[in-house]
Amino acid sequence: MSDAGYDHAAVERRWQDAWEAADVYRTPDDVEDPTYVLGMYPYPSGKLHMGHVRNYTITDAYARYRRMCGDEVLHPMGWDAFGLPAENAAKERDTNPRDWTVECIETMRDQMDAMGFGYDWEREVTTCNPEYYRWNQWLFNRFYEAGLVERRDAEVNWCEDCNTVLADEQVEGEAELCWRCDQPVDTRELEQWFLRITDYADELLEAIDDLEGWPNSVRQMQRNWIGRQYGAEVDFQIDGHGSVRAFTTRLDTIHGATFFALAPDHPISERLAEQDDEIHHFIAHEADPDGDEPNGVRTDLTATNPATGEELPVFVADFVLSDVGTGALMAVPGHDERDHAFAQKHDLPIEPVIAPEPDDWDGETVPEAPDVSEAAFTDDGVLVNSGEYSGLDSEVARERLTEEIESAEDAVQYQLRDWGISRQRYWGTPIPVVHCETCGPTPVPDEDLPVELPAFINTTGNPLDEAEEWKQTTCPECGSEATRETDTMDTFVDSSWYFLRYVSPDLETAPFDRERANEWLPVDQYVGGIEHAVMHLLYSRFFTKVLADHEGLDHREPFANLLAQGMVQLEGEKMSKSKGNVVSPQRIVEEYGADTARLFMMQAAQPERDFDWSEEGVRSTNAFLGGLKQLVESVTVSEPVGEADPIAAYVDGEIDATIAIAGEEYEQLRFNRALRETQDLVGTLRQYVDATEPHAETVERGLAAAVRLLAPVAPHIAEELWETLGHEGFVVDAAWPTAEVDAGQVRKRRTLVENTREDVRQIIDVAGIEDPQRIEVVVAPQWKYDALEIAIESDADNLIGELMQESHIREQGDAAASYGQDLQAEREALSHTLGPDEEYAALEAAAWLIEREFDAPVTVVHATEVDERVLKNAEPGRPAIEIED
Ligand SMILES: [Zn+2]
Ligand SMILES: [Zn+2]
Repeated sequence: MSDAGYDHAAVERRWQDAWEAADVYRTPDDVEDPTYVLGMYPYPSGKLHMGHVRNYTITDAYARYRRMCGDEVLHPMGWDAFGLPAENAAKERDTNPRDWTVECIETMRDQMDAMGFGYDWEREVTTCNPEYYRWNQWLFNRFYEAGLVERRDAEVNWCEDCNTVLADEQVEGEAELCWRCDQPVDTRELEQWFLRITDYADELLEAIDDLEGWPNSVRQMQRNWIGRQYGAEVDFQIDGHGSVRAFTTRLDTIHGATFFALAPDHPISERLAEQDDEIHHFIAHEADPDGDEPNGVRTDLTATNPATGEELPVFVADFVLSDVGTGALMAVPGHDERDHAFAQKHDLPIEPVIAPEPDDWDGETVPEAPDVSEAAFTDDGVLVNSGEYSGLDSEVARERLTEEIESAEDAVQYQLRDWGISRQRYWGTPIPVVHCETCGPTPVPDEDLPVELPAFINTTGNPLDEAEEWKQTTCPECGSEATRETDTMDTFVDSSWYFLRYVSPDLETAPFDRERANEWLPVDQYVGGIEHAVMHLLYSRFFTKVLADHEGLDHREPFANLLAQGMVQLEGEKMSKSKGNVVSPQRIVEEYGADTARLFMMQAAQPERDFDWSEEGVRSTNAFLGGLKQLVESVTVSEPVGEADPIAAYVDGEIDATIAIAGEEYEQLRFNRALRETQDLVGTLRQYVDATEPHAETVERGLAAAVRLLAPVAPHIAEELWETLGHEGFVVDAAWPTAEVDAGQVRKRRTLVENTREDVRQIIDVAGIEDPQRIEVVVAPQWKYDALEIAIESDADNLIGELMQESHIREQGDAAASYGQDLQAEREALSHTLGPDEEYAALEAAAWLIEREFDAPVTVVHATEVDERVLKNAEPGRPAIEIED
């Protein structure tokens, strides 16, 4: 322990025990509409890492702040306890996933308590318990009844390494790697259960506009993920195979189509492959939809372009995807980059049919066709080489072609796919279905839920498929022998509604208490990692909408405000076990205490930003807390007897200022700024105590404010100091300090004083003054404040002309012209200042700080008391400074 340190272990343990004994974080069922603050629940992987600590410190600090503001607060925690890593860990350690998971949960819960996170543990939710996952199964039945569950043969992403199916969202990057193990992902065909999220695609997309409390980046990621495109579908005739429908967003380019392409698994492709070895070989061995280059094989067929009657060669090509659009497309190499690359490779014609719109286009003349031999022109423009459509702009042409081509009609296409929830793993919720030879797949009736997992089966294949006894059952429809479904659910099902379970975690008749959920939801502030922008956050929105449509939930969106917290890095790099650059929260807590860890993190950066871990920063944070403790103790011991003099008035003003600004920053979750203000206040109080005989009421009020402003972030030491200051009750329950001042005015006063002190320092430094005798601070004349206001409001080109229309400014002659020029030069950056009398008062009150710093008397004077020479340098917000040496 350093000199500035304190016995953090004793302080933290003492208050954690006291909070627990008093049950201070409990949210009773009967509270009215509490403020719901939630951190994304963790996967119980072993120990908390710094990312967790940051995430949960943000929610904890905000929850504590709201509580002190007088809100009822709901701040629960739980465990995203199913998933493959537990299965792998169990195999490595020769145990089973349940024991491993329970052990991890115990450890992490203890660590959370040690961090001082104030959770209502009575509401803890653990998804791997049958009491929780039975409701996944129950919800599956409700989705099934609503027609939102489908069983389909589907090509699925398959990770050979993890031996599991992956959702599209779990395949990462252009290299298409498994999100868990970073190995390349394959595909295979399996019968799978799907949730029809695409039924909600339009609402999920359109409602994003109203999610004003979400970061724009996340909203945009969801929009892109849903990927709605407007276009047209149109038929091409293929001899011997009838009409084939193709989707395009660019019907305006149809005159430039030079070939037609089918997906490898399009029914026509499959028919052709049966008779044609080359096509068969391509489909079976060469087609690579994830490859960098488009590949294909030419068939003997031709397709008739419905706009021109031209016969186009037909290819089977791997860049056409059967689950996007119709699995068939018209290729226009002149105006699509991928088609262009394919045409070059296969030596196909490349025709320009769209020209860039000329700047001086009259809306009729057909422009010259562009050269598209080297690169496609992909923007909208004016049609050329398009018969009667030449000379139309792209948009008009699309409308007319859709009307005039007989088979064409408007169509919408989405990037979003239905959500495949089947996983061939053990550690998940069994999908509650029974397969009967007579009745087919049949849901397990609600009264037979939960379908519990059998004992752990350690296998590389599908574990439940090997649970012979467990598998055997009877059909709920006809009573004959049947087998259970052996797939388990994607764990994102668990997390799609867990925030509803916290409302009534022990309810045995429904997943959530409807009435209470309607009152308590949505989550007011949700905090978690940006990596969940499209999976968890989209699925949760989907579930909420389905529950609104079918289970009487009054809310269609789960999370009103979302904060995506930045990363904690080490030397600019993401901390990771594999890189070995991990700082352990446990060590930091042991060495410096939880309050130091929390405070360091929250003051290091705004929550959304990445920041670098700094051991030095941690030490200085620790020293700050130790110093504050000493200051509080010294004041309570010495019982100061100073007067309520002008210095005390200044300090009082600073206390109000800090309360006003820090409160505003807390409200916006900008903890770093709130904490900087609070630390500055502590600095001011320390100076006041060191430099004068302080006024007891002022110091005590200041310290009580500082302690409460720190309490959300450093709760243990705040409790300790609150008690030392002689207050009754917990600081967690104390009222948030308030001040009757305007934060905007206060900020201006701050800036003025800081700039003035900085200017004095500079002058002394530049002029080499060793022993200043007297410092004079001169407030600018009234007319300059008037001129500044005019300059801020004015949008005239000739600012000086406008200023000179004011007679009292014009009277200033050269001085006015000169100041006018300064204002003109700075025009974009001008901001309002205090008035001259307010500036005078602010500088008077702060003069003692300058006196102490430079050990010289300071006088603040009005403009009327000095001559022209000095006044020249005085501006609003920037007084002139004269120093005698
Ligand atoms: Zn994998
Ligand atoms: Zn049956």
